[in-house]
Amino acid sequence: MYPKCIVIVFVLFTSMISAQVIEPTDPRATEDWSRKPPVITGKPLKWEVPSDAVVLLGNSTDQWTKKDGSPIDWMLEDGVLTVKPGTKDIISKASFGDCHLHLEWRSPVVVKGDGQNRGNSGVFLQSRYEIQILDNFNNETYYNGQASALYKQSPPLFNACSKTGEWNTYDIIFSAPKFDKFGNKLASGRVTVIHNGIVTQNNTEILGTTEYIGFPKSPIHGGAPIILQDHDGLVSFRNIWVRRL
Ligand code: MG
Repeated sequence: MYPKCIVIVFVLFTSMISAQVIEPTDPRATEDWSRKPPVITGKPLKWEVPSDAVVLLGNSTDQWTKKDGSPIDWMLEDGVLTVKPGTKDIISKASFGDCHLHLEWRSPVVVKGDGQNRGNSGVFLQSRYEIQILDNFNNETYYNGQASALYKQSPPLFNACSKTGEWNTYDIIFSAPKFDKFGNKLASGRVTVIHNGIVTQNNTEILGTTEYIGFPKSPIHGGAPIILQDHDGLVSFRNIWVRRL
């Protein structure tokens, strides 16, 4: 028989191990295939730019920069800004907290690739929380990775994607997470997404940062820029504005 103290130490150790949440190292571990969002035909929303909106994309790219502060390489033509693959993400010069963000996006006309490789981009709120942009017209992927998903956290309620090569609208109502001065999270961020007039996220809790591998994290932060993602797809954008809430 083992001495009693050794048995107690062993039991404590094993219970500590079992209580620990193991961080996944395989990206597939955080894919959600449990409920396929029904396909709904929506209609892109037409908005006049509200009088108090910050226009991030009209006829110039002067509200955008690369992460290193240098000018962006994406192409702007007639108010349409298209990703130049390989030139990296672009970020807004201004920072935002709670806001209503309107943006219009279009997947590439020429279908290339499938799943996550078809017209992938994304919009990151406060540089950390991605609302996925993807061509999901007749293109299946894990449901928390499709268009309108809070990426790897919440699948959209519906698949409201326009046909390949046609414009989509996102209206995103975002409440930023709140932290105390010690970095404790007092309130999660929340997001509502209206995709082509269809509510696809309904006041969804943001669990933390968007992670391709592993669980969301909750580092303390304040207002931060919006990021548009270069994910090698020729995704285009137009008419982007933000109202601070
Ligand atoms: Mg993306």
